[in-house]
Amino acid sequence: MRRTASPPDLTVPTTTGDAVRLVDLRRVYGSPPHEVAALRGVSAVFPAHSFTAIMGPSGSGKSTLLQCSAGLDRPSGGQVFIGGVDLGELGEGQLTELRRDRVGFVFQSFNLVTALSAEQNVALPLRLSGRRPSAAWISEVLGLVGLTDRARHRPAELSGGQQQRVAIARALATRPEVIFADEPTGALDSRAGREVLALLRRLVNERGDTVVMVTHDPFAASHADRVLFLSDGTLVGELASPSAQSVAARLAELEDAHRQEAT
Ligand code: ADP
Ligand code: MG
Repeated sequence: MRRTASPPDLTVPTTTGDAVRLVDLRRVYGSPPHEVAALRGVSAVFPAHSFTAIMGPSGSGKSTLLQCSAGLDRPSGGQVFIGGVDLGELGEGQLTELRRDRVGFVFQSFNLVTALSAEQNVALPLRLSGRRPSAAWISEVLGLVGLTDRARHRPAELSGGQQQRVAIARALATRPEVIFADEPTGALDSRAGREVLALLRRLVNERGDTVVMVTHDPFAASHADRVLFLSDGTLVGELASPSAQSVAARLAELEDAHRQEAT
């Protein structure tokens, strides 16, 4: 799956196989007669050390898919496995721990704590879990995202792109097995967006991280190893080694098919 051959990094745990597996995932919101089926039986695998993009029209279930995969939301049916653990078998406390220790989440709107510096934001998830992160580790993680010289800055003193990189550092701090990102470039200008995408790609190539990213931007999706297309809560297509052009073409095809079905 790696695009560029890089020397093996021995600090990366050599997990093989699937980081995340979804089996017939279903999520229904509300109750009758006002039910909304956000996911209607999605099965997919996110291989370890790979970068997957998820695309689809607004309301097609992308955020729901990501939140169920990350243990932020409970599915109505089907199964989610992270590193072989069936999330449905976990109680609330165990699910909270898994979310904290094994999963990183990056939001469109950064979700940083405004009163805390970059380094304090990065350390926060570890502190909340009762651990005392070493200054060296926090500084290493900020270095990974290129913000060593911004460690003491608060979010308001950082650009949008820098804030999102702090959020990525915060996600990395707990050494997660998988990083989920929901439209991570959606609030950024194109230059800052490019930096964030290049960073995510580099984390997969150079550290063997696993990234699953929702986006509606074909250029963003072209950074992934594979694109999954979602429509009305169902997987409707897949594209390997995507380019911005091939993604845009596939989206247009899917929209055409959708229109024809509707008429
Ligand atoms: P996307 O991220 O692709 O835009 P979502 O996963 O946010 O789609 O939403 C999928 C569908 O589920 C939409 O019809 C949306 O209105 C509905 N939905 C999402 N979250 C909720 C919720 N908390 N309560 C009720 N309906 C929801
Ligand atoms: Mg969404």
